Amino acid sequence: MKGLTFILIAVISYSCSTKAQEIKNKSTKNKMTKTEAEWKEILTPQEYYVLRQKGTDRPSDGGYTNHFEKGTYVCAACGTQLFKSNSKYKSHCGWPSFDDAIDGSIAFTPDNSHGMIRTEITCKACGGHLGHIFDDGPRKTTGKRYCVNTTSIKFVKQ
Ligand code: FE
Repeated sequence: MKGLTFILIAVISYSCSTKAQEIKNKSTKNKMTKTEAEWKEILTPQEYYVLRQKGTDRPSDGGYTNHFEKGTYVCAACGTQLFKSNSKYKSHCGWPSFDDAIDGSIAFTPDNSHGMIRTEITCKACGGHLGHIFDDGPRKTTGKRYCVNTTSIKFVKQ
């Protein structure tokens, strides 16, 4: 009888810990991971095209390209803070450009599409496509140009 009780307790506690683990996994997964159908529901068609399908805004002087107010640029999909306005500069490339990003907010991935060797930048939190990073940024600071789609970011005034 004692042996049976022990086995029962062991089985129950094992199944409880598995359940707890499942819940834990689910909650981390739900934090930022959404299905494509869910993204489609919350993003505009242009946001979906750029952020989820790695599309590119047409180069323009509009959007945030020549926007220089003081504040923070957050991910348009998940709201994570990505760039401070003091790292934004005029690159004349047709897209918003930053020479630095907020620590740990960006993921870097080699991108050899369209016959070019580039490094894609994405929001680390949700995987949303932001743009690419180049080595032709201001030499006086980082030398980097984070070339970002206006569609991928939202400005929050200081
Ligand atoms: Fe994001």
